[in-house]
Amino acid sequence: MPASLNITLSTATCERLTLDGLPWPVELRRHPRARRLRLALDPPRELLRLTVPRRMSRTAALDWALQQGRWVAEQLAGVAPAEPLIPDATIPFDGGTLVLRWDPAAPRTPRLDGAALVCGGPEERFGDRIARWLRAEARRRLVRETSALVIASGSADGPVSIGDAETRWGSCSAAGAIRYNWRLLLAPPHVRAYVVAHEVAHRVHMNHGAEFHALQARLYGGDCHAARTELRRLGPRLKRVGRG
Ligand SMILES: [Zn+2]
Repeated sequence: MPASLNITLSTATCERLTLDGLPWPVELRRHPRARRLRLALDPPRELLRLTVPRRMSRTAALDWALQQGRWVAEQLAGVAPAEPLIPDATIPFDGGTLVLRWDPAAPRTPRLDGAALVCGGPEERFGDRIARWLRAEARRRLVRETSALVIASGSADGPVSIGDAETRWGSCSAAGAIRYNWRLLLAPPHVRAYVVAHEVAHRVHMNHGAEFHALQARLYGGDCHAARTELRRLGPRLKRVGRG
């Protein structure tokens, strides 16, 4: 992935920049006594601190930082607390929040009731029933949202499935099969719409070239870069829902 550098602050010894592929901005600092590169998370400031030896080139330091994406994702997953699907838990949902309510008198199949998801049946399988509902709801919405864009893109329709991939929000096979992470249901609709536009655009262009980006932008109709940045920021929390 080409690094797009978006420099917002620059001084002689410290600069802050956004790198495609890393969820938080990087604060690059030259350190006269540093022997090697070091990357550290700064959760309160939502920053990655990159310490660079004095004589190392900036490009080499940033290339190295970009290769730490997986490590950063793992660290962030550890920073965000687990959010189990238990009665009275509040989870992110479709840009807002949803309270999970257990009512023994209600049907076992969860039902949306305003900002609550009400589920009956025995308490010990409560989380499993909620998880199944969330996946099914994600599928319903993503199938519908994908179909709408398929028509707009003029591409052929194809299968849509739901999974829980660790590092990707969506994928599109050469045969046009699209797979989404169910957790997109927890993200704001405009962020989900960006992922849908991205994958539907892949049905027409199986690359990240200029024509792909033009189609993606047309299908999304908004600021793709901002949506992607927002998804990176939200991702670690969304990935902790239903765990623990
Ligand atoms: Zn892509």
